[in-house]
Amino acid sequence: MKIDQPLFKEIIESSLDGVWVVDQNNQTAYVNSKMASMLGHSVETILQTEMSSFIRPEDLEDLQCKMKQREEGVSEQHEWRFVKKDGSYLWTLTSCIPLFNEQREYIGSAGMISDITEKKRSDAILKAQRNVFEILIRGGSLKEALHELLAPIEELINGVRASILILDQEGAKFAQGFALNLPSSFMDAILGEEIGPVAGSCGTAAYLKESIVVCDIATDPLWEKYRDVALAHELRACWSSPIINSVGKVLGTFAMYFNEVKEPASVDLAVVKDVIAAAALSIEHLQLVKQMELMLENEKKHFRDTALLAQARKSLATTIELEKVLEPIPKLIISHFADWCYISLTDDEGVLRVVTGASSPAIEEGLEVFKGYKADRQAPEGLPRAIREKKSFLYSHLSSEELRADNNRWPSVGTREEKYLKIIRELGFKSYMAIPLVVRGEAVGGMIVGSVQAGRHYNQRDLELMDEIARSCSMAIENALIYRESQRSIQNREDFISVASHELRTPLTSLQMRVDLLAKAMESKTIPDDVVKKLRPIVTEIRPDVKKFTKLIETLLDVSKLRNKKIQLDLEEVNLSQLIEEEVNRHKAEFEDHRSPIKSHLEKNVMVICDSIRIQQVVTNLLSNALKFGEQKPVEVILKTTADKAILQIKDNGIGISLEDKWRIFKPFERAVSDRHFGGLGLGLYISQQIIEEHNGSIHLESVLGQGSSFVVELPRRQQ
Ligand code: ADP
Repeated sequence: MKIDQPLFKEIIESSLDGVWVVDQNNQTAYVNSKMASMLGHSVETILQTEMSSFIRPEDLEDLQCKMKQREEGVSEQHEWRFVKKDGSYLWTLTSCIPLFNEQREYIGSAGMISDITEKKRSDAILKAQRNVFEILIRGGSLKEALHELLAPIEELINGVRASILILDQEGAKFAQGFALNLPSSFMDAILGEEIGPVAGSCGTAAYLKESIVVCDIATDPLWEKYRDVALAHELRACWSSPIINSVGKVLGTFAMYFNEVKEPASVDLAVVKDVIAAAALSIEHLQLVKQMELMLENEKKHFRDTALLAQARKSLATTIELEKVLEPIPKLIISHFADWCYISLTDDEGVLRVVTGASSPAIEEGLEVFKGYKADRQAPEGLPRAIREKKSFLYSHLSSEELRADNNRWPSVGTREEKYLKIIRELGFKSYMAIPLVVRGEAVGGMIVGSVQAGRHYNQRDLELMDEIARSCSMAIENALIYRESQRSIQNREDFISVASHELRTPLTSLQMRVDLLAKAMESKTIPDDVVKKLRPIVTEIRPDVKKFTKLIETLLDVSKLRNKKIQLDLEEVNLSQLIEEEVNRHKAEFEDHRSPIKSHLEKNVMVICDSIRIQQVVTNLLSNALKFGEQKPVEVILKTTADKAILQIKDNGIGISLEDKWRIFKPFERAVSDRHFGGLGLGLYISQQIIEEHNGSIHLESVLGQGSSFVVELPRRQQ
């Protein structure tokens, strides 16, 4: 087969690749019609133009280099980016061979180009998506991920500047913006703007949830509001598409800006879809991560807050004294989230005074000036206001302009004195809270909590935590006040008992003596019989009453002596076995009267050093109780010894004592039975315990409610 030139031409014309020939001056000598259609020009136009003018300007230097090599006979295969008539890129794989005449002189070159634009695009997008996923997996930032998507767009589309805007949580305003090559002043103008039906390309796209193509910003009504700022930055066309997440919520927009009037070609828009999908995924993922981090942070804060509250409550419970109860609180608050915490209480003259406080070491010295600070109670801001209104106040952001005495409003810290304001400004206070302490409906003082740390601004949640702590403080103050009041009334009661019993003792002793004398006189027959007859029933009735009364006064006197540690023991060597036996015998008749059998098992001649009168008093008390609460059941009195102790046990089978009452019945005036059923002052056990302890002994109780009680007295025994 003979292959002639027309046949060759026909083959080249029907080729699916572009073919071109240039002469030694780089003038286009031939292009096939495929080449012309690839560039979007006619064959004639291309023939009249230098081939290099279709190459992307940035690549011209490289082209010069390659042309030089061709003259030297080097053929090459290279990727060239051509610019089509509509301005878009034509990515090609170009094979080029140099042409020489018979004299081996360079006469030009011929080349073949295949269109690889589609492949280039999908490769670039695929690579960008892969990079974005890698960034997300390793915990990179949103900026990093989105820039990875914006970069290939600007590489693939000629003359484009791309941006991604992200909406706020409510989906109402643009909150964040990302762009590689848009001026920051333009981005700043867009951020914070609300979306709407006429809000530039992006605001409208986000609002309508559809792509918006504005080919000419200068004339399009959608750009009315932002036209000036866009044109000032030479932005002329903007095509924007909404970024929508998996549940149909608009997250933001992806936009392409051009600085010339421009209509999108179908290929330009094809890349947008993939970019938007990757952007949606990145934004959603990172928003989710952020949300989880926030939740975790909240959880941690909640945990820390609860721990602080528990710690505060615990330390408030360590004492009941008003002066000390609040002392640990400021330090705790400092360690948790503050630099300054002071508690003030109103004193008896109505002056609000600092009672306790703490500060972080960095500002401690600076705060010296506050020593002796008295708040102006009329101040319309700060702690005085919190106290007046019984409500806590949050001053989240303090500014040094506001903290000035010459400010026409009262500074929020509640003082107008420049000396204090100056130091607050100098120390750089950023935020503070004023919380009242309300006890029984009255604001008795308050707390202030402040921070100098950058970024630490208190919020509503912090205020709620402080309210909770203040409530615990108020409760502790109330308890301390109640304790103080009860201490005072106990003191008053004791003073009364002491005075009353002293005052009553003298007339009562003389009354007893007179009644005794009268009884004696009646027996000695010095009084006429008829008078004795009338007097006897009266005297018989008065005598036990006077005795009872005297006993009562003596008991009360004992209590006041014990309270004032004035009890004195008259110590001697005593045969305890004998003493107890006598006491049991003395009470026998009484037990018999009550039909309550009493038995004693006493070790003989147990010798102890003691005050016999006082020990008798104890035994009497215990026997009387066994009789009173013994329900007429048998009572046992046992005395035994160990090497160093004498142990007396008085055991009844009566009403018994519950576990809860056991600890308190040894305290003065404490009783575990109702006054209606049993008389008594609740002093016997208290006095007995004091007496036994004065002897370096001990008294304790073993009892089960309803099954009887056993009081055990242990006295130190003289070593033989
Ligand atoms: P009083 O007997 O005058 O009430 P005490 O100090 O002797 O005062 O006793 C205090 C309380 O202890 C009594 O009121 C009673 O409730 C309880 N108590 C004392 N001894 C006994 C006992 N043997 N059995 C049951 N309860 C007792």
